[in-house]
Amino acid sequence: MKYDYLIVGAGFSGCVIAERIAGRLGGKVLIVEKRGHIGGNCYDYYNEHGILVHKYGPHIFHTVNRKIWDYLSEFTEWRPYFHHVLAVIDGKTVPVPFNLNSIYKSFPGEYAEKLENILLEKYGYGVKIPILKLRETDNPKLKLLADYIYDNVFYGYTTKQWALKPEELDFSVTSRVPVFISRDDRYFQDEFQGIPLEGYTELFKRMTADENIDLMLNTNYKDISSGIEFETMIFTGPIDYFFDYIHGKLPYRSLEFEFRNVGSEKFQETAQVNYPNDNEYTRITEFKHLTGQKASSTTVAYEYPKEYAEAVNDPYYPIPKAGSHEIYSKYKAEADKLAGKVYFLGRLAEYKYYNMDQAVGVALNLFEKKIIRE
Ligand code: FAD
Ligand code: UDP
Repeated sequence: MKYDYLIVGAGFSGCVIAERIAGRLGGKVLIVEKRGHIGGNCYDYYNEHGILVHKYGPHIFHTVNRKIWDYLSEFTEWRPYFHHVLAVIDGKTVPVPFNLNSIYKSFPGEYAEKLENILLEKYGYGVKIPILKLRETDNPKLKLLADYIYDNVFYGYTTKQWALKPEELDFSVTSRVPVFISRDDRYFQDEFQGIPLEGYTELFKRMTADENIDLMLNTNYKDISSGIEFETMIFTGPIDYFFDYIHGKLPYRSLEFEFRNVGSEKFQETAQVNYPNDNEYTRITEFKHLTGQKASSTTVAYEYPKEYAEAVNDPYYPIPKAGSHEIYSKYKAEADKLAGKVYFLGRLAEYKYYNMDQAVGVALNLFEKKIIRE
């Protein structure tokens, strides 16, 4: 069998591009995935207690892009869900992103009111300010507030998560969770938010159901690609691995997930509780909040950040910081030399801290801008 495309990786980027090529162009596609399942890091499954869990940590779909939402809606209905996160600070829980409600939970009423008024006057309601930006303020009261948030919400969490201080990472990393001058406790404000009604894995199954798509699980593409005939490769694994590390290793961050089943209906108030200052884990997720599942027990996942080591654990996060971009740009130059023969797509192959919607977006874009024109 000769394939038009060999796609490495069955995550969002690989499955979306496979679906488009097979469904829209009738192209013959082989997806090769080294894990035993489709879905990449978004894979979910029913555990031994009958609870639907996300194997690689909590995945909440959100996007401002109607086109991406409509596209995925061809493969799933959605459970409306707005993510809420609390952080434990000195034994109290406060909403994150840190907002006006968090201020009132953290400080005495009169002082909180003063802070609120200063923020409203200086920035206005509904404005989001990255913590590293807020710390540059010359207003002494705001500076105290910024330092409080930095010390209690960001410093401990970030040094655990990345083994780096907030300012050692790209500004964009801590800006993902900006201080929010609002009473809106939702983690995201995107227009479209939800969880696939029957889970992510069901969505991926429908996406790859086309008879023009073959799937090979438990297979590293390097072990089989020389024996398979294909025209073009689309690679969604780590780009440095593809090029046998000729420019050195790119840094990634890994995680260890500890799942615990608890014999009560509910474990915690919100789906996610962050522990910036205590414990070795960063956050605990209770999946039933995300899925809406009813059951007499509940499963939670503790996330322990880990150094990435090949063959030991998985490269979950690119590390957005100065040195990594320099290494990546050398690999990007190699990738460009293969244009037309191999495309590099997704969070690991493009070395970008993509959310799910962005991974879907770059795959749709590759299809429309390049593949369809070949
Ligand atoms: P991946 O899902 O990583 O897929 C790549 C696939 O390639 C993998 O299945 C891998 O096994 C396979 N592969 C790699 N090398 C090889 C090889 N040599 N041979 C064969 N196969 C190979 N995004 C959100 O929008 N909302 C969230 O709430 C959210 N939460 C997250 C929580 C965590 C803990 C993590 C780590 C990520 C989260 N994300 C979230 C991001 C989301 O997981 C990614 O955007 C998305 O998975 C990227 O899809 P991808 O296809 O590019 O990569
Ligand atoms: N962050 C933090 N404290 C928090 C939440 C987030 O310091 O309570 C920082 C931390 O550096 C984290 C980054 O903001 O890695 C991005 O957070 P996000 O929740 O987007 O991380 P993800 O869900 O991608 O792991």
